[in-house]
Amino acid sequence: MNAPDRTLHAPDADVAAVRDAGELVAWDLIRTLVGFDTTSRDSNLALIHWVRDYLAGFGIASTLTFDDEGRKANLFATLPARDGNATRGGIVLSGHTDVVPVDGQPWTTPPFAAQQVGDRVVGRGVTDMKSYSATALALVPLFLSRGLERPLHFALSYDEEVGCIGVRRLIAELPSRGVAPSACIVGEPTGMQLVVAHKGKRSWRCRVRGHESHSALTPRGVNAVEIACEIVAYLAAMARRYRDAGRRDAAYDVPYTTVHVGTIRGGTALNIVPRDCQFDFEIRHLPFDDPEAMFAEIRDHAMAKVPAMRAVAADAGIAFDALSTLPGFDTHDGSEVTALGHALAGVEGAGKVSFGTEASLFHGAAIPTVICGPGHIEQAHQPDEWVALEQLARCEAFMRRLAARLHGA
Ligand SMILES: [Zn+2]
Repeated sequence: MNAPDRTLHAPDADVAAVRDAGELVAWDLIRTLVGFDTTSRDSNLALIHWVRDYLAGFGIASTLTFDDEGRKANLFATLPARDGNATRGGIVLSGHTDVVPVDGQPWTTPPFAAQQVGDRVVGRGVTDMKSYSATALALVPLFLSRGLERPLHFALSYDEEVGCIGVRRLIAELPSRGVAPSACIVGEPTGMQLVVAHKGKRSWRCRVRGHESHSALTPRGVNAVEIACEIVAYLAAMARRYRDAGRRDAAYDVPYTTVHVGTIRGGTALNIVPRDCQFDFEIRHLPFDDPEAMFAEIRDHAMAKVPAMRAVAADAGIAFDALSTLPGFDTHDGSEVTALGHALAGVEGAGKVSFGTEASLFHGAAIPTVICGPGHIEQAHQPDEWVALEQLARCEAFMRRLAARLHGA
């Protein structure tokens, strides 16, 4: 549909030679997908329906799985193998459709319109991560130009940016249709390098309930802000301990487990001993560090404060709420998906990263997974989010190599 003749060019066109975004096979699709404002808090259905109709134009049916309100959907679609097999094995190309908000960010171009600026493309989601999905979809005519040896699946999800929520439903639905892919490539921005592992992440909210009094009478109150800050200081010390003395894996960008407090709220006025304070914190852990054990240590430290609080006020206390859990994953060297990733990306070696992705959820569902996509995580979530044309060209070359492989070349 989108200039399919251009998709038949040789796989290894010189990636540095692309000077005009219009030379990219995926350019129309990148602009189309970026043009949908799919900020996580809003519906993604307009984009999903567009992709569904696009694929239907090639005779490919899509399966949608919805959130509870029916406002958002995942899309899963399969290009069957030449023998008709659409369920056994095959490769999943996975991308999330949602993007982070642009609120309050000083954009110099309209965020929901992908534009070329010099040797870059600028727009919300151009690197995280609509360009990968757009490139995969733009090459559907190439994939379909000859019979495939194995099925090729497309997985587009909602609500990744708010905790990898949506894809869990997409993955859970696959066994009911007998779909059992043998590999998955998640196109989060890695600079088109191969990433075979990321840290796990757990997050919690700590709520400290103290007791209000006039600030002239501090012994009659229980100061929730001060107690919360003591716990925060303990978390900071724990983070230093893991940084200085914890086990390391040098393959990660941050080679040790990290602890971080992101928000804190408490108190109403200087002359009131504050009753309430709460803060949110996270642990991003290497595979050999146990976040449950770390959390137990934090909780024990906090709970030791409660008897003294209750001696002043019976309703004082400390509570923890679990906010999110995303497992880590580590696809070992030598696995089929790692070899596939190396071949498609045209790189040797593999990295490990600290940011979480949907890869761990595919991996946890017995679908071996790697991460490889255009752009860099540092360019994501920023005002004037951008991706280099060279990265988009590399992504196209990646997809062409995949097509050649699936065609049995
Ligand atoms: Zn992303």
